[in-house]
Amino acid sequence: MNLSEKRNVDGDWIATLLSLEFFGTCVDHKHLRKNEKNVFCIDCNVEICRHCCNTEAHFVHRRLQICKYVYQDVLRLLDIQHYFDCSEIQTYKINGEKAIHLNSRPQAKDARPSTKSKNAASCVTCKRYIQDRPNRFCSISCKALRKSVSFVSLQKWNKVFWRKNIIIKKEV
Ligand SMILES: [Zn+2]
Ligand SMILES: [Zn+2]
Ligand SMILES: [Zn+2]
Repeated sequence: MNLSEKRNVDGDWIATLLSLEFFGTCVDHKHLRKNEKNVFCIDCNVEICRHCCNTEAHFVHRRLQICKYVYQDVLRLLDIQHYFDCSEIQTYKINGEKAIHLNSRPQAKDARPSTKSKNAASCVTCKRYIQDRPNRFCSISCKALRKSVSFVSLQKWNKVFWRKNIIIKKEV
């Protein structure tokens, strides 16, 4: 596999990661407790549950655990940084660890950057306020979009972005 092919494959799993809705029930393990699908298997390009992780199918695969933080999907920086260049993405301290948002979040119309932070900036993709320069992105999705992973991924991303935003607006 040459380098440009590899890049395409990488782009595709990022697009899948961003398009999935996590925390649904795993049909293979519906009789077990804690069977919500909160793990992404990079090698299989699918969402799986913690019981799936221990099966032969995924045991040696590269996996990412998705966490919920204030109803949003986040990833531990320590996990994702091995597979995706997270530079310039805003990180947050969650339970003592650095975490990063998977998707852009809507913000209140009258939101302003914190007056405490002179370094506040806004995401170059979605314009959401972010805490610290020189960060330029609020989430993995905003960076992936800017990097134009691939045309197909981009189209997929756009659909997801709009679908998610519509769902969120309805809930408010
Ligand atoms: Zn499972
Ligand atoms: Zn797998
Ligand atoms: Zn953003």
